[in-house]
Amino acid sequence: MHGKNVELDKVVMRFGGFTAVQQTSLEIRAGEFFSILGPSGCGKTTILRMVSGFIEPSEGRVRIGGDDMGGRGPARRPTALIFQNLALFPLMSNWENVAFGLEARGLDKRTRRERAYELLALVGLEGKEAQRPGALSGGQRQRVAIARALAVEPAVLLLDEPLSALDLKLRQYMRAELKAIQRKTGVTFIFITHDQGEALTMSDRIAVMRAGVVEQVGTTDEIYDRPATPFVATFVGENNVLSGTVAEADAAYARIETPLGPVRARNQDALAAGQRAMVFVRPERASLVNGHDLDNRLTGRFERRDLEGSYVNLFFTVGDQPFIVHEPNLDRQAALEGEVRLGFQADDAVAMRAGALDDA
Ligand code: ATP
Repeated sequence: MHGKNVELDKVVMRFGGFTAVQQTSLEIRAGEFFSILGPSGCGKTTILRMVSGFIEPSEGRVRIGGDDMGGRGPARRPTALIFQNLALFPLMSNWENVAFGLEARGLDKRTRRERAYELLALVGLEGKEAQRPGALSGGQRQRVAIARALAVEPAVLLLDEPLSALDLKLRQYMRAELKAIQRKTGVTFIFITHDQGEALTMSDRIAVMRAGVVEQVGTTDEIYDRPATPFVATFVGENNVLSGTVAEADAAYARIETPLGPVRARNQDALAAGQRAMVFVRPERASLVNGHDLDNRLTGRFERRDLEGSYVNLFFTVGDQPFIVHEPNLDRQAALEGEVRLGFQADDAVAMRAGALDDA
């Protein structure tokens, strides 16, 4: 098996008067684990359906491995699709489920069976070949569905929220499994999810979507450390937000006047003096001042604490806004009350133009 690249070239999808996907260009590389992440209704599934051929874009082109897919239905594309609802055949054995798509290819029963056994081994289900799906756990059934999708040797596997029906522990385990299967096969995976944890743990790159628009495409580090828009900053991971007006700015840093005092942050958005700006600080990048030499200092009113295991989650109010600090080394018994000094380094804060955060 080998993966192919997928290009969306100025693709638009309209349903009647409603534009579900605004003009989008994306290149997904061959053999990449690529996730499309966004809230419900943002257009993720619509993109997947355009790639798989269940719908044709209203404008633009979809190319796979350089070939224009225009006018080609799902059966004539080098893609396979896995849904949350797996649709395995309950009365067939696992190997027969996997071999199902191979009959149409004219392979004899022995070859089909051999191929199915190989694929079940690939997904870690040796010994389960003759059982029926009903005898398996949810995660194992998921793996049968993956083996079945891989049986037709797709160059691109499309996965539409395949883990969302599993319980939390299994979901986390299957993340690693899926990634390992992707690496072993080299098939291009396009994985749809609204769960940022899934996208961050499995992907080579992520496209973050909101309301029919791809707001950022990047590696997991880029998306997490250098969010391009206020929406990406708050949808992916937690972020504290401070708002104000740019007092001065150069190419590297901006000084923002906030109601809580001045704040220095990385100028990621070519901000200039006088503009409204938002500053984003991850809870794990903020800390109690406690003798630290920090570029930015604020006074917070201590509200409460939660022990998260490896760190303590501290909740403050600064001005009238919530502000969260993750402290890995705090003495659990340390007394905290009333006004507390907290802060963060300029390099750990991202300043960008204020934008709508309504759906965040
Ligand atoms: P979810 O995670 O809830 O499935 P999504 O991000 O996958 O969300 P899509 O299913 O792509 O979202 O839908 C995007 C928008 O397009 C939604 O507002 C949806 O109602 C609309 N839409 C999707 N398919 C059609 C259709 N066939 N006719 C009309 N509107 C549609």
